[in-house]
Amino acid sequence: MLNGKTALVTGSTSGIGLGIALELAKQGANIILNGFGDHAGPKAEVEALGVKVGYSGADMSKPAEIATMIDYANAEFGGVDILVNNAGIQYVAPIEEFPIEKWDSIIAINLSAAFHATRLVIPGMRAKNWGRVISIASAHGLVGSAQKVAYVAAKHGIVGMTKVVALETATTGITVNAICPGWVLTPLVQKQIDDRSAKEGIPVAQATKELLQEKEPSLQFTTPEQLGGLAVFFCSPAADNVRGVAWANDGGWTAQ
Ligand code: NAD
Repeated sequence: MLNGKTALVTGSTSGIGLGIALELAKQGANIILNGFGDHAGPKAEVEALGVKVGYSGADMSKPAEIATMIDYANAEFGGVDILVNNAGIQYVAPIEEFPIEKWDSIIAINLSAAFHATRLVIPGMRAKNWGRVISIASAHGLVGSAQKVAYVAAKHGIVGMTKVVALETATTGITVNAICPGWVLTPLVQKQIDDRSAKEGIPVAQATKELLQEKEPSLQFTTPEQLGGLAVFFCSPAADNVRGVAWANDGGWTAQ
């Protein structure tokens, strides 16, 4: 279905981003990976699906590096047809103890990076009159949780930006949407479980159960594969007129 298209997935050396990259590649899309840490392993995993795979080590907190990444996509892949704004970090503390540099980096990586990547790919999408911008927001793009001031502000920002860019492209073949996952068991969440286990002096299994019970009525994690499946739907012709939504995939978290 996506043969000949190129998907750039930010923060795709791990977790949700890698899961989405794999599902898009299964549909035939060429993939540009991005993110820190080992990239050879993820690259080989996606290449095994028979598509062309590139990599950019751009630091998503740096606008100039984002621009270099888009230049690379234009030169080596003929542009970005599908942009998945996924790179993100978390930090947990009450507002009066929240380090200023953590606020700045969360806003830069979780929000401003999506602004920069999106503004840089829209012209190419307009030229082809086809494009998909899919931003990974969160249940925290729809509701708040204590101790996550920067993350919740950034994710609400992503949902707002999604609506605006969807309106600006509404008469074109470009659609812009957000996905709002609940808990997904990735390194980002494992750290929160481990911190809870250490702080409360309880086993990791109990901390995991409590984390789910607190927010997620299904008592189940959403998987990267399921989120990849939703991204594939947004790329399909059935979603040609789905514009500006913030689609929860959260086990009922935000239905409460
Ligand atoms: P993860 O920690 O497994 O992966 C994060 C990815 O982002 C990694 O590839 C990392 O290298 C990359 N990254 C981090 N900082 C970067 C930077 N400055 N420049 C480039 N890449 C950078 O996390 P995840 O759980 O897969 O999260 C992915 C996205 O999904 C995030 O936006 C997160 O907020 C969102 N999300 C996660 C959950 C969850 O429960 N895990 C729930 C809702 C939303």
